[in-house]
Parts: sequence; C-alpha cells; structure tokens
Amino acid sequence: MRTLDEALGAVLDSFTPLEPETVGLDAALGRILAEPFVARRDQPAFDNSAMDGWALRATGADETRVVAPGESAAGGPRPAPLASGTALRIFTGAPLPPGADTVVLQEDAVLERDAVLDGDRVRFTEAPTPGQHVRRRASEFTAGDELLPAGAVIHAGTVALLASQGVRELLVGRRPRVAVVPTGDELRAPGSDAPEGSLYDSNGPMLAAAITAAGGEPVRHRAVGDDRSALAAAFARALEDADLLLTTGGVSVGDHDHVKEALADAGVPLDLWKVAMKPGKPLAFGRSPEGKAVLGLPGNPVSAFVTFQLFGRPAIRRLLGDPRPALPRIHARLTAPLAHRPGRTELARVRVERTTDAWVAHPHAQQGSGALLAMAQANALAVVPAESSGVDGGAVVECLLFGDLPGEPYARHLDT
Ligand code: AMP
Ligand code: MG
Repeated sequence: MRTLDEALGAVLDSFTPLEPETVGLDAALGRILAEPFVARRDQPAFDNSAMDGWALRATGADETRVVAPGESAAGGPRPAPLASGTALRIFTGAPLPPGADTVVLQEDAVLERDAVLDGDRVRFTEAPTPGQHVRRRASEFTAGDELLPAGAVIHAGTVALLASQGVRELLVGRRPRVAVVPTGDELRAPGSDAPEGSLYDSNGPMLAAAITAAGGEPVRHRAVGDDRSALAAAFARALEDADLLLTTGGVSVGDHDHVKEALADAGVPLDLWKVAMKPGKPLAFGRSPEGKAVLGLPGNPVSAFVTFQLFGRPAIRRLLGDPRPALPRIHARLTAPLAHRPGRTELARVRVERTTDAWVAHPHAQQGSGALLAMAQANALAVVPAESSGVDGGAVVECLLFGDLPGEPYARHLDT
C-alpha cells in the first residue's frame, strides 16, 4: 500500500502545463499568466492632480496667487506652463501645468477680487505642503517593470491593471479538457426513473462541477455499465477528445470491476494502487501512448469527491499552469474529537469557520464514505495523520479547504 504522499508525488509530478493560448482580457478571469507581464507605460503616465482644486508651485511663503487664465480638466487640452505667482484651476485626473508641483484643495481656497490687479486672486486658508495632492508620473511603477510573474492567477484586480496598461489580449495556460465517464450497471441519470436497486449517478455531475471550478473544461459522457468491451469502447472514445480522463467506479477487485482491464484494452496501461487514505483506498492512474492521463477514481461518492480534490484538482491546476496547484490549507482547532485507527491518512469532512481570533473546524458526525449529506455540508477536509490514534477536541489540525467555494482566492493566501 502506498502512502498518500507517495501516491500524490507519483501522480502530480507527471503533470506539466499545457501549451499556452492567447485570449481576450474579457475571457481571462481565472486563467494563469503564461509569461510575466511587463509594464508598457509609466503609472501614472503623466503628472496629474489627485483632487479638485488649484495647481501652483509651492514656495513656502506667500499664501495667495493670481488666478491664471483657463483650467486643466481630465481629458482636456494640455495646460500651458504656469506663470510664476499664479495658480490654475484644476480637476481630479487632469494634467498638471508645467511649472506646478502642488495642488491645494478647492475647499481650502477663497477667491478674492484684486482691485489693483483688476483681476482675481486665490487665497489659501492652509499653507500648502510642497507636492501635496499630486500623482507624479511613474510614482507607482515605470515602463519596463515586471508587474506580474508567470503563474499569476487573473482576477478582477489583475484585469483592471492589465486594462489600464492598454492590454486587450494575453497569453495564458490553455484550459484542460477533462472527460468524465462514470461506470456501474446501477447508475441512472438524474431526471429519469430509478427503480429499486438502481441509483442516480452523482459522480458525473459532481465531477463536472468540480472540474469547472478547478478551471478545466468538463466533457461529460453517459454512464457505462460493468461490461469490459462497452467500457473499453467508451474510454477510447472519451480519450480522443480530452487531455485527462476521469472514470469512477469499477476499480476495486470485485467480479464486476473491469475498469483496469478495459483501459488496458483501450491502450492505457493502468497502475492500480491501494493508497493509504480514508476514504478513497483504490485509485488507478496511467497514461495513453499519446501521454493523455487517466485517473480511475473509486465509485463511492465521498471517495470520488475526496480523491478528485486531492489528485484530480491539482492535476488540472498543473495542466492550467498554476504553480500552486494544491488545495489551500489552514490550521484549525477541532470543536469535537475525531476517532481514528492508525493505518491510513484520514480526510475527515469538517466545516471550518473563522472566529475573531482563530479558525475552528466542526467535524461532521457522519464520517462514513457514503455520507453525501456530510460532504454537502462540509467545506474542508481535516487531515488525520496515518499513525494517529485519534485527535482530541481542542487540538489543532491541518485542514484542506475545498477549492471551489466563493472566496477561494482569498483562502489561497491564508496558509498558516
Ligand atoms: P464501485 O467502486 O464500482 O464498487 O462502487 C462503489 C459504490 O459507489 C457502490 O455502492 C456504487 O453503487 C456507488 N457508485 C458508483 N458509481 C457511482 C456514481 N456515479 N454515482 C453514485 N454512486 C456511485
Ligand atoms: Mg461498480
């Protein structure tokens, strides 16, 4: 029997990013940058005002200025150089006139008539600090600076940055096409009748959702019965148009478990392993001669889910080009004990939540490998080490957060 870490290493080390592709910025959310992004222009691109007010050159002494003719507004014409002793009306985002270095808020300025001048003066109620309220050219970054490394995940903030640099298209990792073939004579599609003895296929829909959440493109196939030649034909067809094939069920050693032989018939020699994990002991992995990967997941719905989270999701993230493919992990205090017999690494379904000062993990009462309700209510897996003989309530355990819940990008930065 392999340890969980051995099996993870053997499977995940064999996945490398797919060839990159160019996509429009509007379609780039969640993709992974395939090359570093280098600034095309200074930010800010020109000296401009951060406020509505008056542009002037600070001298530290007099607190009034003659009002210069005209104004500078965002998107307006370039202002003329500022004559000494004058101040120009300016608005947020507008270019500073050459010669100006400071902006005074309009709230801190009073317009006065100057009879001698026969014109307007502006008087400041506060002595301006030189440089205040000015966004200096290149004060944030300079053209040529590396702004994002290869491997950066595109989120809304990244989209804003790239758009502000005039980017319309970018090079990102291609989304892997992931075929899903559930197997089992007993399976019926949700929406159809399920006479006694049959059951609804939950693994197919679960995997399609989990693949999408991981950034892959699911390609769903009809469930196939426990017939070796039907399975071989279905696997061969599914492999034609996929980067990765996920099967569920039929990987144990029962009389009706034909997935391993059928995949061999389809040209994919498969290693079947007993992995020292609970749930999810039987797991199969192999590659077609063209290098397409196949993961044979157990049929048990909780086992299929857990093995997908541990093996399938990181594999998809690697294909996508994510340099951090593992599930986000935190440390959390258990609110109840977790029983465990030494032997296999257990991945207990828990609900983690953040209290004011720490993460806590509530173990679900139902830890059976068929307990779908527990899985639906959980948001993380608590890792109970193989050698442990149980974890006390109050102890701190490592928890792997499900990768497909809202807020996941934030969870990525929560490693403790
Ligand atoms: P197997 O790995 O084929 O021995 O299946 C283990 C258990 O999981 C059996 O009770 C199956 O009925 C159940 N099972 C297998 N595939 C699915 C599926 N796609 N959806 C729901 N349950 C399944
Ligand atoms: Mg079966």
